Amino acid sequence: MMKHEILSVTGYEKIFKIEDPSVGLIALIALHDLTLGPALGGTRIRPYRNIEEALEDALRLSQGMTYKAAISQVGFGGGKSVILADPKTQKTPELLHAFGRAVEELLGEYICAEDVGCTTADVTQIRKMTRYVVGLPHSKSSGDPGPFTARGIYRSMQATAQKLYGSDSLAGLTIAIQGLGNVGQNLARYLFWAGANLIVSDIDGERVEAIVNSYRARVASPEEILFVECDFLAPCALGGILNDQTIPRLRCRAVVGGANNQLLTDAHADALRHRGILYAPDFVVNAGGLINVAAELEPSGYSPTASRDKINCIYDSLLAIYKIAEENDQSTNTAAIFLANYRLKNGIGKRITPPIFHHS
Ligand code: NAD
Repeated sequence: MMKHEILSVTGYEKIFKIEDPSVGLIALIALHDLTLGPALGGTRIRPYRNIEEALEDALRLSQGMTYKAAISQVGFGGGKSVILADPKTQKTPELLHAFGRAVEELLGEYICAEDVGCTTADVTQIRKMTRYVVGLPHSKSSGDPGPFTARGIYRSMQATAQKLYGSDSLAGLTIAIQGLGNVGQNLARYLFWAGANLIVSDIDGERVEAIVNSYRARVASPEEILFVECDFLAPCALGGILNDQTIPRLRCRAVVGGANNQLLTDAHADALRHRGILYAPDFVVNAGGLINVAAELEPSGYSPTASRDKINCIYDSLLAIYKIAEENDQSTNTAAIFLANYRLKNGIGKRITPPIFHHS
């Protein structure tokens, strides 16, 4: 028997707590802001220690999705869901189906997609119970967002190189990648072909070996990777890695990576600034995945080339944010949030037609 509870959190539209003990489901669906359209955001599956930890993650991630969607002008609001389960041992079809039923009950107010711990095969299971899903592995959907997220990071690095060195070439630059999952692997490929020197790290040795063999990368241990000397550090694994302990030890010119919520708190953006390290706000850099999944809901259907063209524009968005930050003597993170809030306040990029689920 499914149980729904609505939690009230200041500053958030709605937070749903869903429980179905018959299949071991405990999940949260956080809708942060629906000003520009229905909430779109991935479903994270993690063995959170408790509901408080899961709620904190869902709140931060859904707020980040609001900013990301507003900056990218995709006509969606910010949402995220988290399932409290170990993806290796507790992710059953029955659990995913129960979650899908909960998403269906929201009648399109929330649209889910893959995220950490939740694969495209998993969203295919969720799809059996709800049409409000994107990023499915078939021709009427947009598939795996990872390569598109990586393209956005690559374009962000070009913009950052332009800002710091006066040229958007990445040839000869040293770039350190933390995490060689879906995003990190695809990023390594882009950077190798752009002529960058790579330093890579992952806790999974097989992933490291594959990248070293394919792209002549140097290896750093998971303990060292954040502190290697490099032009750009690309966090592509975990959130919260830019904090009081790590920032004083960084040896990069800029941080440009795909992980969500890289800053432990917004104040850490100022700490980076005071160290003279240029921070490319994560929700701007990693918007490629969102832009790609949103593209499949266009009236004309999914087009990977249209999606790629829109992702390429992250280059200009990021340069604009660097400029706003400089002109206002503020951190790049503050400038990006300012731009997102400006668009929200003025309804810029607001959806005017309903999303079309071509896979239905
Ligand atoms: P993933 O789970 O496929 O890969 C993460 C990788 O990081 C894994 O290989 C894991 O072993 C590694 N890792 C974990 N801890 C590590 C550590 N301490 N040091 C080094 N490596 C470590 O996830 P992903 O899809 O590649 O996403 C990476 C990040 O980007 C996540 O924060 C995710 O939220 C964010 N993101 C992903 C997308 C997307 O399209 N997949 C879009 C936007 C944001």
